Amino acid sequence: MLSEMCPVCNSPLFEIRGELRCIRCDKPVVKVHEESEVLVASAPLILTRLENAITDKLDVLTNLSRGRVSRRSLKSSPKPSHP
Ligand SMILES: [Zn+2]
Repeated sequence: MLSEMCPVCNSPLFEIRGELRCIRCDKPVVKVHEESEVLVASAPLILTRLENAITDKLDVLTNLSRGRVSRRSLKSSPKPSHP
């Protein structure tokens, strides 16, 4: 057990195979001292999210170009009702 605390849940951190880990979060914890380091540390996470978002959009576009998405779902305005 180390004196460092998890920034998320404030549990004491453990060093496992040279890596700081929070047992409660079950996540590796990266120690940062400056904001720029926070950015560097979180960059892979942001890139992964971005990649997922782009992949989702590309998937939709690919389906659209193949005409697999029905035209109904493309209509944005509902039909006016006739009383
Ligand atoms: Zn934690």
